[in-house]
Amino acid sequence: MSTVEQVKPEVRDYLSREHRLFINNEWVSPRTAGTFDVINPATASVISSVSEAGSADVDDAVASARHAFDHGPWRTMHASQRGCLIWRLSELVEANADELIQLEVLDNGMPIAFAEHLMRYCVEWLRYYAGMTDKVFGKNASNIVSGDGSFTHAYSTSQPVGVAGLITPWNGPLGSLIIKLAPALASGCAVVIKPAENTPLTTLRLADLIAQAEFPPGVVNILTGFGPVAGAALVEHADVDKISFTGSTNVGKQIVKAATGNLKRVTLELGGKSPCIVMDDAKLETAIPGAAMAIFANTGQVCFAGSRLFVHKNVYDEVVSGIAEFAKSMKVGSGLDRDNMLGPLISEKQLERVTSYVTAGSMAGAEIVTGGERVESGNGFFVEPTVFANVSADMDIVKEEIFGPVLCVTAFDDTEAVIQQANDTRYGLGAGIFSRSVDKVHYIASQLQTGNVWVNSYGTVHPALPFGGFKESGWGREMGTEGLEAYLEKKSVFINLDP
Ligand code: ADP
Ligand code: MG
Repeated sequence: MSTVEQVKPEVRDYLSREHRLFINNEWVSPRTAGTFDVINPATASVISSVSEAGSADVDDAVASARHAFDHGPWRTMHASQRGCLIWRLSELVEANADELIQLEVLDNGMPIAFAEHLMRYCVEWLRYYAGMTDKVFGKNASNIVSGDGSFTHAYSTSQPVGVAGLITPWNGPLGSLIIKLAPALASGCAVVIKPAENTPLTTLRLADLIAQAEFPPGVVNILTGFGPVAGAALVEHADVDKISFTGSTNVGKQIVKAATGNLKRVTLELGGKSPCIVMDDAKLETAIPGAAMAIFANTGQVCFAGSRLFVHKNVYDEVVSGIAEFAKSMKVGSGLDRDNMLGPLISEKQLERVTSYVTAGSMAGAEIVTGGERVESGNGFFVEPTVFANVSADMDIVKEEIFGPVLCVTAFDDTEAVIQQANDTRYGLGAGIFSRSVDKVHYIASQLQTGNVWVNSYGTVHPALPFGGFKESGWGREMGTEGLEAYLEKKSVFINLDP
């Protein structure tokens, strides 16, 4: 059974509700009536339908955010009160976690344990930034700027950038939203959110919780709709001061171009082709499952998925056969069943994309060690976890982000050479190192051109530490104080004193 019958009655009720747009703390119909279907990728069936925002709705949502930012109580309330609201939202997310988790699994397909893991992060991110609202300071520079008999009082301050558009992807819908929303709110910005068209449900459900937490009207607005329409209108809007986007590198580049109208600030969290390196002194009981889950978690639909694996030739055979066995042991199926470790891909389109990469890889001469086939189960978009060996650096499967459970393995025997291979990509998001040598690990970590490095583990993040990418994996950082800075403008004030 992999259907909505498995979920709580509240979740079933929620699916059948009418879903409108959330503007100014009210649910409104789109100006040009239209809806689109929400699909459960584990069954390919329609589970709900949501409103489709057009550019007039974007205008309304931006006007609402603009008003809330320029004239509402949000700007003038005490910083700690903003923190209380964000904390209250964290409590509501926690109290409704079961429902949000089931909705996320139905909408995205991810294994329920993964959804639970992301939901814990959501609560932590909200709490981290709730505590930061009253810890935004400037600098006093009076002692530096005064002199030669003149006295100047000078200081710098930070203030919120204004109206921020938050455009999120489908691979971790609520998580990727919260790492934007929490710091945006903590900074005092007002926001317009455009979730991915494939996975709008948890973002919409969050709107109820935002209203319940009693955020002032207009601080958070949510538009469900399509990227090239609602997303593009938001990015081009002259009254939007900032866009924070997570998604594909191609769309990220389009957003940069579209943002030039008013030179709005842009933060981008984009694609990756992240390397994992297994040294010959690695503890293989850790390295094998570690490297396998680096790519197979969330069916490879993770921006920092460890999709290129480099294994020292002394342990190559053992590691490759270990990962192949791990892959074969993974149960593929609906994320609602706890036994399943690999859920579906998000859509038919994504399934076609992944299988066409697999075909192209074989045609180019790569060897399929395991997997490569579609899995027929309940009409869902399932594919086997796949491992390629005998790959070369010029193959598309090695160069391009597939965003599926497809691993490319290469042998190496020299540390400098493997560092060079690991860096031989236009991306720079994550990297894994499996080794027991502290000196080697620190050296390799220092040489990798990536924003995140995991050692003898993969994929850990923490609210206090910046996350983001080098090179074409993005601009700026999320999480940590850096994540807050992304929503702040700096101002320097000089006051000439008359002694
Ligand atoms: P994918 O191709 O895997 O769906 P995208 O990068 O297209 O990933 O999607 C990420 C987010 O960007 C989604 O919310 C999508 O609607 C949005 N999006 C897509 N195209 C545009 C665009 N031209 N302008 C703004 N947002 C867009
Ligand atoms: Mg869906």
